[in-house]
Amino acid sequence: MGFRAKKDVNMYVCGPTVYNYAHIGNMRTYIFGDLIARFLEYKGYKVKYVRNYTDVDDKTIKGSIENGKSLEDFTNFYIREFEKDCSTLNLNEPDVKPRPTRLIKEIVEFIEGLIKDGYAYKAKDGSTYFDISKFVHYGKLNNIKQKELKKGASERVNLDEYEKDNASDFVLWKAWKEEDGKVYWNTSLGKGRPGWHIECSVMCHKYLGKTIDIHCGGEDLKFPHHENEIAQSEAHNNARFVNYWIHFGMLTVDGKKMSKRYGNIYTIREILEKGYNPIALKLYYFMSNYRSAMDFSFEELKETELKLNGFNKTIKRLVGYHGPKVDLGEYKKKIKGYLKDIEKAMDNDFNTRLAMTYLLDMFSYINLNITEGNLSTGNIKFTLQMLKVLDVVFGIFKFPEAPATIIFDKVKKRQAYRAKKDYAMADKMRDQLKDYMVEDHKNGAFSVYKN
Ligand code: AMP
Ligand code: ZN
Repeated sequence: MGFRAKKDVNMYVCGPTVYNYAHIGNMRTYIFGDLIARFLEYKGYKVKYVRNYTDVDDKTIKGSIENGKSLEDFTNFYIREFEKDCSTLNLNEPDVKPRPTRLIKEIVEFIEGLIKDGYAYKAKDGSTYFDISKFVHYGKLNNIKQKELKKGASERVNLDEYEKDNASDFVLWKAWKEEDGKVYWNTSLGKGRPGWHIECSVMCHKYLGKTIDIHCGGEDLKFPHHENEIAQSEAHNNARFVNYWIHFGMLTVDGKKMSKRYGNIYTIREILEKGYNPIALKLYYFMSNYRSAMDFSFEELKETELKLNGFNKTIKRLVGYHGPKVDLGEYKKKIKGYLKDIEKAMDNDFNTRLAMTYLLDMFSYINLNITEGNLSTGNIKFTLQMLKVLDVVFGIFKFPEAPATIIFDKVKKRQAYRAKKDYAMADKMRDQLKDYMVEDHKNGAFSVYKN
């Protein structure tokens, strides 16, 4: 805190292909993308965060035709649903959410530039391909060996997505085919539509410039998608494309890859329907390392939800706390220490896993001090302020309104009656507080809050 803006940070996250509801694996990527943007903002950087929607590719076209909808209507629906999921997960809005169908002119110009510079060629099938043999650094992100490259160089791939290990000339502009139906643009490259990889290069270039600081995506995009983005962008811009690549580990469910075959593809709405708090998913993911693959299970989600409920209960206990005004100097110091530890962990390659262990320790410490009746009004205020600052980064807590003064007064009256052993009146007061939970702490302190 208290940093001055040192520098702007440009950040791009490969967005969802909007042909279906996003699943909990996709969301791991966007949860961590959001976290990185939030943490950098917290550190005083001015972040420009771009996350696209892939609204034209093999899958969106197929989906729109199968559903008898225009590509526009079909993808609009899934964009809206994705945005609902993002808001369910309390993710911040990116600064720009571009869509390739709105940028056809820019895409065509970019490809024309590649043709002009000898990096791309139009083939007999009417499509335009990137010639990977012309880009000498092809394979640098994935350490692909020259031998494989040479083998691949003679092959051409006209699909948006293709197998790993097969370095090939990849499509930039796909000539129209019958299965594309009404989806095509008539351009100088012919009747067709852009390939998937070129879309990201163009969107990065348009909104973030030639060189971007951070480019994120799931591990599965490292090859070929990101290798191809580098080739296109560096060939076109003659500048380093990305300073830092961040790849998020893949999520498996119960030890298996998510797939229709296993029936283990879960969406955010299914998490809700099953009665879980989707925010618990964030805490669950933060307890893992973003780079590592992670195995999801509902048992562990449940356990994490209990931890999250614990955090939120502590916040209620703080908000509804009343106690003697003794100030323990060491309490503040200790809380500041936890915050420093959390920040240090995050400074070290966004080590959320370690940060979450400090967070758990911090909450135990706060709870102990509540129960002991150790907190002054100042300490309470300070703690809540610090938790709000933390939540700017993690976005997982719930801060309730403080109970009305009259509620506090009723609890105090009840205490007074009890001290006089007037239990009938004490019970009467308790009855008036029936919507509330009242916890008596040591030192005559208490917390009152709605359950
Ligand atoms: P897609 O909609 O298929 O383009 O994927 C959107 C994002 O989710 C990409 O960044 C993928 O890398 C990521 N993703 C897809 N499947 C998983 C998974 N099982 N675990 C984590 N991230 C994934
Ligand atoms: Zn991309």
